[in-house]
Amino acid sequence: MAELAPYAVVEANSRGRRVAESPPVARGEFQRDRDRIVHCTAFRRLEYKTQVFVNHEGDLFRTRLTHSIEVAQITRSIARALRLNEDLAEAVALAHDLGHTPFGHAGQDALHACMKDFGGFEHNLQSLRTVDVLEESYAEFNGLNLMHETREGILKHCSSKNAALLGDIGQRFIDGRQPSLEAQLANLADEIAYNNHDVDDGLRSGLITLEQLDAVPIFRRNREAVEAAYPGLAGRRLIHETIRRMINMMAVDLIEQTRANIAAAGVASLDDVHAAPRLVAYSDGMLPELRVLKTFLREGLYHHFQVLRMTDKARRIIQDLFGAFMNDPRLLPPQYQQMARNDKPRAIADYVAGMTDRYAMREHRRLFAVGEIH
Ligand code: MG
Repeated sequence: MAELAPYAVVEANSRGRRVAESPPVARGEFQRDRDRIVHCTAFRRLEYKTQVFVNHEGDLFRTRLTHSIEVAQITRSIARALRLNEDLAEAVALAHDLGHTPFGHAGQDALHACMKDFGGFEHNLQSLRTVDVLEESYAEFNGLNLMHETREGILKHCSSKNAALLGDIGQRFIDGRQPSLEAQLANLADEIAYNNHDVDDGLRSGLITLEQLDAVPIFRRNREAVEAAYPGLAGRRLIHETIRRMINMMAVDLIEQTRANIAAAGVASLDDVHAAPRLVAYSDGMLPELRVLKTFLREGLYHHFQVLRMTDKARRIIQDLFGAFMNDPRLLPPQYQQMARNDKPRAIADYVAGMTDRYAMREHRRLFAVGEIH
């Protein structure tokens, strides 16, 4: 591996772990973080959580697990090109959605509405809560006891009210400082992954078509380039060849613009990164392309009536579950009843957020299907 850039996060400039541990053997501290994430329960649950399509709708659609793996792949490639800390960047990418509710954004919005009088619910904050508090695997601490920079990368955004409650990890939002380049990168790689795989899944589902995608210049130009190089290519190969070119175009644009930003800002250390404006960015030419693509996906796919029917049902499942547990916390499993003694709404939100799609549906049936009492 090439030597890391002077502004990369390394163990020597890290703020370390909250609970001191002996150093790992035969791997680095950030590798250990990545490994802990892969081994945690919340990570396995991602396999059964919706990205856009509900988990049981088809075996080939992205789930939150395969989404996270794609984010990690893109993050890692760009991190290497920029000589950043790949292990840290990968750890952040793999953990970024650990706090996501079942049923994708509809689930998050529904749980946030349920929690509006109790501090709200935000999946990003919940990802941090998962690795800091909720995972119960280690003898000496709650959570995964990750390195400061991994936790900082997971907490992408945060209101100043929440930042004040979070202590050292929230301080940068109060001071207006940027996280590491590794964290900035994982954030944008998330976007590259979903903007592209949602096109792929949208086409696979038949909810959007190749003809409609002609309205998206970055897609059309790449499709035309593929057809010019391979006349007659059609179907899955045409789609995949087009999408791989889009991913590459976005990643290369990000690498080049970020290099230019780092040079222009004269960044030479991690401290400089924290003090500088956001450096990981697309070029001015790429931004409008992405805006058109995002608008297309929102209007054509995320707001497609068949997707909205699914998300509307999901919203009701979350509301029903939350309401039933608020009404009678004795319906919660014992471990959450215990937590509910300190903070009932938060314990319920933790329980509901941890559910997979199918577990939430099963739990809903158990509580509400009056025809089947058992
Ligand atoms: Mg994501």
